[in-house]
Amino acid sequence: MSSIDHPFLADPRKKLLIDGQWVDAQSGRSFESRNPATGALLATIAEGDAADIDRAVAAARRAFESGPWPRFTPAERQAVLLRLADLLEARGESFARLDTLDMGAPIRRTRGAIGLLTGVLRYFAGLARAIEGSTPQPSMPDMFVATVKEPVGVCGAVIPWNGPLWASVLKVGPVLATGCTLVLKPAEDASLSPLMFGELCLEAGVPPGVINIVPGFGGTAGAALAAHLDVDKMSFTGSDATGRKIVQASAGNLKRLSLELGGKSPHIIFADADIAAAAPAAAIAAFGNSGQVCSAGTRLFVERAIAEEFAAEVARAAAAMRIGNGIEEDTDLGPLVSARQLARVVGYLDSAREEGAAAVCGGKQLTGDPWDAGFFVPPTVLTDVGDDMKVVREEVFGPVLSVLPFDTMEEVIGRANATPFGLGAGVWTREIGKAHAMGKALRAGSVWVNCYNTLDPAVPAGGYKASGYGREYGPNHLEEHLQTKSLWIRTA
Ligand code: ADP
Repeated sequence: MSSIDHPFLADPRKKLLIDGQWVDAQSGRSFESRNPATGALLATIAEGDAADIDRAVAAARRAFESGPWPRFTPAERQAVLLRLADLLEARGESFARLDTLDMGAPIRRTRGAIGLLTGVLRYFAGLARAIEGSTPQPSMPDMFVATVKEPVGVCGAVIPWNGPLWASVLKVGPVLATGCTLVLKPAEDASLSPLMFGELCLEAGVPPGVINIVPGFGGTAGAALAAHLDVDKMSFTGSDATGRKIVQASAGNLKRLSLELGGKSPHIIFADADIAAAAPAAAIAAFGNSGQVCSAGTRLFVERAIAEEFAAEVARAAAAMRIGNGIEEDTDLGPLVSARQLARVVGYLDSAREEGAAAVCGGKQLTGDPWDAGFFVPPTVLTDVGDDMKVVREEVFGPVLSVLPFDTMEEVIGRANATPFGLGAGVWTREIGKAHAMGKALRAGSVWVNCYNTLDPAVPAGGYKASGYGREYGPNHLEEHLQTKSLWIRTA
C-alpha cells in the first residue's frame, strides 16, 4: 500500500466545514499538506481567513440560539457523544494512519491514542447527564435561590499539530456535552484528521453549525477567531508565545479563556528508584512523539550518585529506538512535523554545543538517504549542562533531554520549580514519604510518581504558572464550558 493510499485522501481537495456544509474559502485560496517523513503531497486544503471565521461564528451562533441543538435534552446530547465514540472506535485505524501521514507520529502511538480518545467521548457522554446546579440557602426570609448551569455559548478553539485528532476530541467533547457550539481552527501543519473528525460529527447526528472546522493560518484565521467579539469562550493549545497573543486578542469582549501551553517539565530520579523501570520511562518521557509533547520530561534531574550510570542507561534506551517513517509498524520515533520545527530544534542543539554541553547520543540532524526527504533528529541526551543554559530553560519541542545531577531533595525542589512553566513533573523513588513530599512541593498541574505522562478521561490535566489557565479532562473541563446563573425568586 502506498503511503498516501488513504480513503480520506481519495479526493485530495479538502474544504471548510461551516454550517454542516463543505465549502471553499471565500478567498478561493488553499494550502498544501505534506507528509513530513517523505515530503509527499497529501492534500490541498481550503485556506480559511477572517471572512470564513466570521461565517463560521455566525453559523455557530445560529446553531446555539435556534434550530434543533438548544432543544436537545441531556440524554440526546449523550446519545450523540456515544455514537461519535462508537464511530471513532470503528474508524480508529483510519484516523491513526491519517495523523501519522499528516504529522509524522509513529503509527503505534497514533493507534494507541484511540482508546483514550473514545474514553474521553464516553466520559463526557456520562457527564452530559450529570450537569446540575444547587439550591443555596440565603440568610434572608422568603427567598428561594437556585443556581442553574447553562452552556457558555459559542466556543472557539485553536489547536496544535502534535496531536491533531487528540486535540479535536478534547475540544469537541465538552462542547457537545454542555450544549455549546464550536468553531475549531486546526494547525496549518496538521488539519486532516480534524476535518475527518468533522465528517464523523455529522455522521453521529451533530446538527449543522454546532461543530464548524476552519483550517487556515494562525496569524489570519486563528487571530480572527481569538479576537472575534461573538465568541464567548476560547480554548487554545499551543506555544506560550501564541498563548500570550490569544490573551491579548481576547480582551475585546473579555471572552473566557482556557489555555494549555508549553512546559519544561522536570523528571526527577532519586538514587533509591527502580532504575530498570525509570531509565526507559525517562527516555519515552523526553523522546515520545519526537519530543513534540507539551509535558515532555526534558529536564532530567538525577541524584548525583547514579547520574552517570543513569544517563548511560537512558542513552541505551534511546539508541534502541528505531527512527523512521511513522507509517512503518516498528518505528519508535518519526520525523519532526515541519522544516520550521527542524530549524528550531537544530538551533537549540547548536546553542547547547556552543554553551559547552556534551551529547551522549544524538546531537545532530540525520542527513543522507532517506533522511533528507523528511525532518529527522535522533534522540539526544545532553550532559555537562547547567540550569541557566538556553536548552535547559526553554521549550525545545524536539527529542532533546538534559541530564542535571543533584545532591539533596531541597535543592532539586528549588531547581525543578525554577521555571516559568508548570505543566507536568515526574518523580521516581521507592520511599513513600519522599513521594508525598515531592508531590506536594512540585508546582505543576500533574505530578507523576513512578510513572510519567499518564492521562485518563476522569483526571484533570493542565498548567500552573505560564503553562496555562484551566484544566482539560475530568469534571473541571466540563465546568469551563458552563455558566452559573443564580436565580432568586421571592416567595412571599
Ligand atoms: P507552533 O509555532 O509550534 O506552530 P503555535 O502555538 O504557534 O505553535 O501554533 C499552535 C496553533 O496556534 C496553530 O493552530 C496556529 O495556527 C495557531 N496560531 C499561531 N499564531 C496564532 C495567533 N496569532 N492567533 C491565533 N492562533 C495562532
